[in-house]
Amino acid sequence: MRENTEEKTPYQKYQESGGIFNEGDYENSLEKSFVMLPPERSLNKQAELQAQEMANFAGLNGPIDRAIRLYGILRTDTNPDKKEYHHTKMSDQSLFAESLRMTNNALSLNKFIEAYHKPGIHCPICLKVPTSGEECR
Ligand SMILES: [Zn+2]
Repeated sequence: MRENTEEKTPYQKYQESGGIFNEGDYENSLEKSFVMLPPERSLNKQAELQAQEMANFAGLNGPIDRAIRLYGILRTDTNPDKKEYHHTKMSDQSLFAESLRMTNNALSLNKFIEAYHKPGIHCPICLKVPTSGEECR
């Protein structure tokens, strides 16, 4: 345990919360998500609606606009560099979980994981059938 939490960068905090993106992807996608277009002008409207549906399923009601925007950006990204471990290969639910993690929304993230990660049922976030007490990803 490090003592001075103030010295951690947002990316370090993100990593400690279980984030899996590299720093470049993290910074780039977050930066893009700051450009707030009204929903009807968003290029990623379809993906954003999909994120909203997942949020509704999990009963999320906090401030998740930015995570939804971020999900739209990530889901419609096309892996131009042909990276092997790229988010285009992630499931919808795990990508949205990652968007909540990137926007530092731990409350909603936990609620989201609880809605999908249940013992004996295939979890679309960690892609496992968890046993009782087994943590998500
Ligand atoms: Zn899981």
